[in-house]
Amino acid sequence: MRSYKVCKHGAPLQLHEEQTPQPFGTEVLLEVTAAGICHSDIHFWEGEYDIGGGNVMRLVDRGLHLPITLGHENVGRVVAIGPDAKGVAIGDERLIYSWIGCGDCAVCEDGDQQLCLKPQFIGGFRPGGFADHIMVPHPRYLFDYGDIAREHAAPLICSGLTAYSALKKFGDRLKSEPIIVFGAGGVGLMALAILGAMQAYGAIVIEIDAKKRDAAMQAGAIATVDGNAPDVAAQIQALVKGRIWAVVDFVGSGATVKLGSDLLTKGGHLVVVGLFGGDVTIPTPYIPTRAMTIQGSYTGSLTEMEELISLLRDAPTPYMPIHLRPLDSVNQSMHDLKCGHVIGRVVLMPNEPVYTDT
Ligand SMILES: [Zn+2]
Ligand SMILES: [Zn+2]
Repeated sequence: MRSYKVCKHGAPLQLHEEQTPQPFGTEVLLEVTAAGICHSDIHFWEGEYDIGGGNVMRLVDRGLHLPITLGHENVGRVVAIGPDAKGVAIGDERLIYSWIGCGDCAVCEDGDQQLCLKPQFIGGFRPGGFADHIMVPHPRYLFDYGDIAREHAAPLICSGLTAYSALKKFGDRLKSEPIIVFGAGGVGLMALAILGAMQAYGAIVIEIDAKKRDAAMQAGAIATVDGNAPDVAAQIQALVKGRIWAVVDFVGSGATVKLGSDLLTKGGHLVVVGLFGGDVTIPTPYIPTRAMTIQGSYTGSLTEMEELISLLRDAPTPYMPIHLRPLDSVNQSMHDLKCGHVIGRVVLMPNEPVYTDT
């Protein structure tokens, strides 16, 4: 088995070759056929988040110890099945849910494994998909994704599920009101595709990169605004021509959360998803007097994964530029993503011939 591991935070991932493991109990072994690279992989690689004021949150303090095999957006083909694993057959190609919890606590029993305080996430706490094989602890984490192409299916585990779970928090208001979306990276573009499938009213996208604004328009945005424009708030207000009820922030910097909360009308709702980092000051009287809701959203549940797949199964393929690359390009690809050179998603194909990189 070949895998690329983070052995030192910020240093290039190292290639490891070892005996391919065999599944025990309910485990299932898969060959990785598609592994998306996500911005969170950059944070796990660097080992910290900016929490503002010159401070960082270190992942080692959260129980994440090196070496780790990154990669949490995976599709694989089943190659070996533990004696107690039911409902899956050799050769099945499946989407792998990554946000695994301890399985024992009240949160996990409620179906919210992604919020468990003892996380076992694939691609962090458990070895991920920057490898030619991956072990999954139970078939319940494997999803049949129908006719969706594997390179479009893989990002559904993180950017897709994250976008869907965040958008669901706005309820039916999405059908009657435009939503303001900060950021047209992988998650933002996925959100636009999902809004289309949800038959939502539509989105106005705030993005500082002109190429990403073009991608957002192609993905179905009503309009875009340059986030660096000095009159960005006025431009947004002019486009909405009314009150702003719903803002979703896929950037999550101090500046975007501040602007997002400033834009809300009374009773409005801001959902923060992005992990760019920073901090924000909000006058406390605004929270009650403007009856605002500020809510975080982190990945999504197994049930939401099922809902998302059934939502997209019959919808047109989401507009998402995909760059197929071999496993051995992982260091270059991480670098490209970190530098903002990737529009859409890089998907590694550890066991498939790679035909394109466009
Ligand atoms: Zn991710
Ligand atoms: Zn748990």
